[in-house]
Parts: sequence; C-alpha cells; structure tokens
Amino acid sequence: MRYGRSDAMDNPTLQKVAVVTGANKGIGLEICRQLSARGVTVVLTSRDEERGLAAVRKLEASGAADVVFHQLDVNKSASIASLGDFIHTRFGKLDILMQPVSSSGLANAIVETYELAEDCINTNYYGPKRVTEAFIPLLQSSQSPRIVNVSSLYGKLQYIRSERIKEELRNVDTLSEDRLDQLVQAFMNDFKEGKLDQNVWPTRNMVAYKVAKVALSAYTRILAKRYPKFCINCVNPGFVKTDLNWNLGVLPVEEGAEGPVLLAILPDGSPSGLFYDLKEVSSFE
Ligand code: NAP
Repeated sequence: MRYGRSDAMDNPTLQKVAVVTGANKGIGLEICRQLSARGVTVVLTSRDEERGLAAVRKLEASGAADVVFHQLDVNKSASIASLGDFIHTRFGKLDILMQPVSSSGLANAIVETYELAEDCINTNYYGPKRVTEAFIPLLQSSQSPRIVNVSSLYGKLQYIRSERIKEELRNVDTLSEDRLDQLVQAFMNDFKEGKLDQNVWPTRNMVAYKVAKVALSAYTRILAKRYPKFCINCVNPGFVKTDLNWNLGVLPVEEGAEGPVLLAILPDGSPSGLFYDLKEVSSFE
C-alpha cells in the first residue's frame, strides 16, 4: 500500500526523500522496503556496490518503487561527500536521514581486539556522526526533517559503570560534542593500554559496541537540542534475526524496522531527543 502519492506528484517538494545507511541487508534493507511502501523515495546505500545493487533489485522484485542505489561507506569522507552531491543534484533536499549502519566485525568476533573495537566505534558512532554533519544543510532544506539513529538496549546509560561519566552523559544541558568525543577517546585509550577498568566502562562482551551506542544515544540528544525544528530520535529495534546476532534474534526484520520507520514519519511537532524502545518512548537510563 502506498500513501500520499498523488499529493506528492502534484507538488515535488512534498515527495519525501530518505537516505538509509547500511541498507543492503538486515533491518536497514527492510526499513527501505517499508519507507518505499509509504511513498517515500529511498536512497538505499551500501559500502559495497554489488551488494547494494542486489538489494535494490530484491526490493524491486517484491514490488517496491522509487528506490535508488548510491554507494556509501560511513567511514570514508569522500564517499559521504559523493552521496551528498548526488542528493543535492537530484533532489535538492533530504527529509529523512535513517542510520541503521553497524559494524559487521562484531558477529564473527570471539576475542574483541583493539582493531575490532576501533572499527566498531568508527562505524557505529563516528560514521553516523560524520554523515549527519555532512547532510545537515540538505535536511535544513526539508519542511519536516527527521533523523533516526538506530541504537540498541546497549545504548542505555546503565551499561556505563562510572557514576561520574553517566552523570556527564545524561546532562544534555552541559554535555558538549567535544566532551562526548573526549570520553569515547578515553575509552579507546584505555582499551589500547589494556586498562578497561570494569568500574568505569561496560563489563563483559561487546564493550566497544556498548560505548558506541551509548555515545550515539547521547549525540542524538545533543543534536535534538541544537536543531529544535528537526525531529531527531534514537531507537532500539528489538532483538531482531539478522547476521549481526548470527540470526539468533527473535523478531523478524519486518517488526524490527517498524520502530525506526515510525520515527521517520513522525508528524510535525512530535517529540525530539528521545530514546524509543521499539515503538514506545523509553528512557536513556
Ligand atoms: P546487519 O544485518 O549486520 O547490517 C549492518 C549493515 O551495516 C550492513 O548492511 C553492513 O554492510 C553495513 N555496514 C557495515 N559497515 C559499514 C560501513 N562502514 N559503511 C556503510 N555500511 C556499513 O545489522 P542489523 O541487525 O540489521 O542492525 C541494524 C541496526 O540495528 C544496527 O545499528 C544495530 O546495531 C541495531 N540493532 C540490531 C539488533 C538486532 O537484534 N539485530 C538489536 C539492537 C540494535 P556489509 O554487508 O557491507 O557489512
């Protein structure tokens, strides 16, 4: 079922345009399908051209329309700039920036090495942040800009052990982007030096993933405060059956995509700077 097509076709500025990062598989691919079904023009991005084009063909074969491919590696500035040029030339604006991108090394990791941790922090935190910074001007040309950062339950503050750091991260009135980056860098330095104090940083497995998602959640709040005309939220999609968790998740991708899609199409005046657990408002704690 498609919505709003005739209005949009009468007036091209009403036709919503979305970019989805890390969209060649998993929840990202399904988000593309659901946005397309709602009449949104979707730029499906993938770091690998072949995987991305195959994903577009798969969506088209299942009846999706208005899905175009563009290469995007969130860790490469030139790739981000090239996508920005494409969006600017082709659409002149961006309505929805949807970020379900996630480092893939995690799924195969038995031992969390520094290299894997670095890749995880880059892809899950600095990457989405880089893409956001580059696309803010395009989003400012939208009448209803939306940013959706796909976080995780691991993106909640409870996974940080230090009360002092937790307090800094929760206080969005005083937390600056520079300070947030300093905290992430302090974590990486401690990781490198083998000093992951379990009274400070998350314990047990997927330590870098937890820090990256906590940082992404905090960044979401900073952004929402800085751009009050946007709706900018983060969301835990649920435990979804994808390659990220060796397909051990319990929800199908169709359900995992619903929360992010809901946030992408929130009506004007909707809340911003919140953490959603699936489709419900939750807390950052
Ligand atoms: P997934 O199936 O592993 O998909 C991750 C996507 O990110 C893939 O398309 C991957 O592309 C892409 N990617 C990796 N590095 C990239 C880079 N440098 N630039 C651009 N794209 C890159 O994961 P998923 O389960 O769908 O997860 C989607 C989001 O939900 C993630 O943010 C994840 O943290 C979050 N989440 C998932 C679950 C869950 O249970 N699945 C739970 C909580 C949160 P390649 O194919 O090239 O690797």
